[in-house]
Order: sequence, then structure tokens, then C-alpha cells
Amino acid sequence: MPETIALGQPTVGDEELDAIRAVFESGWLSGAGPTCQALEARFASEVSGTAHALATSNCGSALHLGLKVLGAGPGDEVIVGDYTFPATGHSVAWTGATPVFADIRPDIWSADPAAVEAAITPRTVGIIAVDVFGQPADFDELRAIADRHGLWLMEDAACSAGATYKGRPAGGLADIATFSFHGRKGITAGEGGALTTDDAELAAHARKLHTYGIAPAISREGSTDLPLPEFDELGYNYRLSDLAAGVMLAQLDRLPTLLANRRKVAGWYEELLADVDQVTAPVALEDREHPWQSYVVTLDQGVDRGAVAAYLRSHGVQCNFGTYASHLQPVYGFSKSLPVSADLFRRHLAIPMHANLTEGEVDRVVTTLGEALVAARA
Ligand SMILES: *Cc1c(COP(=O)(O)O)cnc(C)c1O
Repeated sequence: MPETIALGQPTVGDEELDAIRAVFESGWLSGAGPTCQALEARFASEVSGTAHALATSNCGSALHLGLKVLGAGPGDEVIVGDYTFPATGHSVAWTGATPVFADIRPDIWSADPAAVEAAITPRTVGIIAVDVFGQPADFDELRAIADRHGLWLMEDAACSAGATYKGRPAGGLADIATFSFHGRKGITAGEGGALTTDDAELAAHARKLHTYGIAPAISREGSTDLPLPEFDELGYNYRLSDLAAGVMLAQLDRLPTLLANRRKVAGWYEELLADVDQVTAPVALEDREHPWQSYVVTLDQGVDRGAVAAYLRSHGVQCNFGTYASHLQPVYGFSKSLPVSADLFRRHLAIPMHANLTEGEVDRVVTTLGEALVAARA
């Protein structure tokens, strides 16, 4: 059997190892140190285009911090785009608020603005829109809805590093945005995340809560007296370690190349998939730049996805479902039906997408997918 083509693959090497060595030599390995500060400055200016960035332990912790500083809590409802990794819904539930899932656009799979507006009740306090697989949601429409109803707006930009919406970078499209540096995302430190915002007060509050409820230790470095921090609010340890921040700095150097490579892969797929029956390529809208965290195709109604996946896997092509229909996850006890999300949850198939794929590999994936579709029909 030919070598297996991976679904996803991080791009890391000597540059990341050198960055880790530099952090070793700095002596500051724990979180919220000088390397995190350097990462935050570069992330805000080069990625999110926001006034502030806070490095966090992951995207889930960034979501939780964002919700806490925006004031979500018991009795509140937060509207969440349904089709997402359940970190989004979980983070709402962690605050004691209730996630209310909204159905999605059938083409780009982010929250349908009309469904969001229809889900608003007197208890609604805010909206979390997810940039699904990195492609930004409809932030102009969502902002208008939020303003009309006096709600805040968050962007789950977990997969969005390098994406744009009408020329504006992802991460700066809402009151607060959150990123993930998990190994399956476009840039990675294994685990990690970031919270971005233009609001200095929200940023400062999130920073305090991310280090147990006091100012980070680095703020007391070089004091000649003995400052005694006081805990007046319950915080968490949501820090990113400076080791991971070093890796992320090297990843930021790579980001333009990684994005260009993924875009090239998406172009090859689009061309080749046009000749394959029973499968639809993903849509990238003209007014936004898609960072292609994943490449997810939609199988026609009636195709046996399990059989297609089994064929691909047994022929050395990794694949997976897309992401989750949150409202179908028993943990939330959500009772309404969201037909678009439920349908795509059954028909989506993620095929290999990463920055190291060659044209020959993409060709093999599409050829094997074509065979798989024929075999699944038989
Ligand atoms: C990956 C992902 C998350 C979770 O990120 P972690 O860093 O693993 O917490 C949240 N939301 C979306 C949309 C994701 O894709």
C-alpha cells in the first residue's frame, strides 16, 4: 500500500527547536513571561490587528475568559453557531449560562444571521459566531443584530489565523475573539490559544483572571520593595507557557508561507473535484480570505459516508467527519431541531489538508475518493 496521506500535519522544525532553546536559556519557562509578552505583541499586530492579545492555555480557556469578562453567568442565554467543536458550547455552560444553538448557513456553515435573530429572548446577553474551519462568519450582519438588541458579540476564531473578512483580519471582527494553537490548527504550539480585543478594560480583566485573579508575576519583576498582591476575585490558571510562546513566535514567521501553501492545495482540490460526481467542494466567499484549516467536502444525499471513509482509510488516505452539530450532543440537553447543521453533520467528509501536501498527493486523494464513491455505490 502507498504511504498514508495524513489528514492534518503540523509544520515544525529547527526554527521551533531553536526558539525552545532560547526560552530555556532565558530562564523564564513558566507562563505570562517575556516570551509570552513578545508573542502577544506580534500576534496583535500581525494576526488579529487588535490593540490587545492575551496568550492562553488553549482556545477553550480563552472562550471562558471572554465570557467571564463580558459578564455571562447563571440565568443568561448565549447564542452559539451550532456547527463547531463543542468547546464553544462548553465554555458557555462553564459560566453557568445556557448555550442556545442557532442553525447555520448551508454554504459556509457559520451561524445564519436570521436564525441568530430568531433565537433571541429576553434572557439573551450575547452571541458567539464561529468561523467554521477558519472562514469568517457574517460579522456585519451579526454586529447589526447585536447592536439592535443590546448584545455583545464574540468570534470563535480557533481556526482563523490569517483569515480576513472584507479586508479586516479575523480576530478583530467582534468585541472579543479567541484562537487555538492546538496541533490540528493552522499554526500550533501543540496546545495553546489567544484572546484578542480592542477593549483595554476587557483585556486587562482577562489577563487578571488568566493568572488566578492577580496581575502576572512579571509585573512585579524588578521591584525594590515587596509588593503583596491581593486576591479579590476568583481566577484560573489559563497561562500559556513561555516554551509554547517561543514555538508560536517561530510559527508566526512561517504563517504567510503556510497560508499560501494551504491556498494552493485548496486550488488543486477545487479543480480536481469538479470532475467527481456525488461530492461538492467547499465554498470560499469572495469577500473573505479562507485560511483552510480543514478541507471538508459534502457528499450527496444517500451516499454511504461510512463506506467511503472505510475505502479511503484502507487505501492510505486519512479522512474524518467535519465538525460537530452541537445541538445533538447529549451534554447540552437541547431540544430544538436544527436541520441544516444536522444534515451536514451526516454528510461532511474532511479530506487531507495541510501545508506540506504535494500536487501528486492531492491528485491521489481525489482519485481515491472517486473510486471510493463508486465502490460505496456497489
Ligand atoms: C479547535 C477548536 C476549539 C478548541 O480549541 P482548544 O485550543 O483545543 O481549546 C474551539 N473552537 C473551535 C471552532 C475549534 O475548531
